[in-house]
Amino acid sequence: MRSIYLDHAATTPVREEVIEAMVKVLRENFGNPSSIHQFGRPVRKMMEEAREKVAKAINADPREIIFVGSGTEADNIAILGGARANKKKGNHLITTSVEHHAVLDAFKALEKEGFEVTYLPVDEVGRISVEDFKNALRDDTIFVSVMHANNEVGTIMPVEEIGAICREKKILFHTDAVQSVGKIPVDVTKINCDFLALSGHKLYGPKGIGVLYMRRGVRTQPLYFGGGQERKLRPGTENIANIIGLSVAIELAVAEMEQESARLSKLRDKLIDGVLANIEETRLNGPREGRLPHNVNVSIEYIEGEALLLTCDMKGMAASSGSACTSGSLDPSHVLMAMGLTHTTAHGSLRLSLGKSTTEDDIDYIIRELQPIAERLRAMSPVWERFQKGLPIA
Ligand SMILES: *Cc1c(COP(=O)(O)O)cnc(C)c1O
Repeated sequence: MRSIYLDHAATTPVREEVIEAMVKVLRENFGNPSSIHQFGRPVRKMMEEAREKVAKAINADPREIIFVGSGTEADNIAILGGARANKKKGNHLITTSVEHHAVLDAFKALEKEGFEVTYLPVDEVGRISVEDFKNALRDDTIFVSVMHANNEVGTIMPVEEIGAICREKKILFHTDAVQSVGKIPVDVTKINCDFLALSGHKLYGPKGIGVLYMRRGVRTQPLYFGGGQERKLRPGTENIANIIGLSVAIELAVAEMEQESARLSKLRDKLIDGVLANIEETRLNGPREGRLPHNVNVSIEYIEGEALLLTCDMKGMAASSGSACTSGSLDPSHVLMAMGLTHTTAHGSLRLSLGKSTTEDDIDYIIRELQPIAERLRAMSPVWERFQKGLPIA
């Protein structure tokens, strides 16, 4: 049977060059980068070279790069630390209703501490409006977080406009760029951000490593204590193999980006067009333009997302659904709900995220196989029956 991995937005396989570099470090360089003897010194040097590579990939200064344990951790250090450090200046924070839970839940924690948070709404394709953002600004706004690109529907946000406004008003701006780095250009000087989060395992690097970019001169409050590593924001002996792995992965991802993203965009559009043309009552979630090159998200109406996923899996297609499986619950995705989808439509959603291994042949296979799957599931769906009879749908 075929085995097609269509969940690159969840994680990516580790590329060979990364594995090789990591194994070499694990085997040959066990020293602690903080040791000043002959075992530690070369490790420190490797780590600083890795930092330079990461900095270059997002047009930052190496001193602005902090290695952390994940994208989630980078988001938390930026948001909790940035807001708490500036509490005296104001109490109001702004984010969007479609952020990753790493961001949303950090803001929820800040609300419990007494901060006021505005969650910006999005339009039908999942994009915030700059006008809404301007209207939400207050004299006591101290911190803003808007994701660069959405992990579920691939929508690219107007972060450059938001960043420019924040800079002018001296408000701290954080962006979660976990999905965008290596897919679309990410330049911290153009985005005008003070903080940016990225993650190794979304760009063919290892899991359990992230980067927090923190602009020079910006201050934040640490969440952890115990050592001087990573500007005291992520104390603890560095995970050197993961750091090297991430640096190799990000360098290659950025070098190959233009070509690979052009290839993926074509496959993405072919897949979207094929599914919409082949299966009736199907809609695209997220925009046609201004969308991540590897993201496809469609709702096949009147079908349960979970059933759809399982049937796809049986046919060798590993995808993801819009019913948040993060908590094991079957609540429809907060992103799709914020975009105004009904429960039924949100439940029938399917995210297919493409990657380096995806071929045109895979796309043809998916388009071919999805139609009979949808037909079979609909034949068993009471909602589909109601729809066909023109009866109201709960
Ligand atoms: C995956 C992801 C994260 C979390 O990154 P981890 O390294 O898995 O913690 C955060 N934000 C977005 C948008 C993501 O896609």
